[in-house]
Amino acid sequence: MGPFGHMAAGFAVRAKSNRIPLVVLLVAAYFIEIMYFLFAALGMDTPRYAPWSHSLGMALVWAIAGGGLYALAVKKWRDGLLVASAVFAHWALDILVWDTLPLAPGLSQQIPGVGLYRILGFKFEVAGGNLPTLLVTILDLGLFTLGLAFCIARFRQEKRKRKG
Ligand SMILES: [Zn+2]
Repeated sequence: MGPFGHMAAGFAVRAKSNRIPLVVLLVAAYFIEIMYFLFAALGMDTPRYAPWSHSLGMALVWAIAGGGLYALAVKKWRDGLLVASAVFAHWALDILVWDTLPLAPGLSQQIPGVGLYRILGFKFEVAGGNLPTLLVTILDLGLFTLGLAFCIARFRQEKRKRKG
């Protein structure tokens, strides 16, 4: 999933709870990608195969770690669960667009994905100036807009409540 589509997950979770700062949820929604850059720098993940950041097993580890740390910091387990779901949503959105994602580092098993990028004919090597790229961008920005709209609606509702 593109960067803006991932942000939608942070917005969506923020629309569920007003106790968690939006910035925390946006970082959570991007946490797996942050891990990718870290492990890619260490030479352990590559653009084609990224088990340390993007396997199902590690996505669960990142979600539990991120949610757990947040729960400990604020002493609210429900909020930790919401942060964990924002972290894991990254993997859920990625399995939607990719053909496969690894099960866990060191294992050869792959989890089959929906493969939206392949279905739309999108290739990173020829990104730009073609219909598949346009469709993928519409998907990315469409999700972003939807998430943002939910979040703004929630902000307005909270503002009204504070006034009333
Ligand atoms: Zn990703």
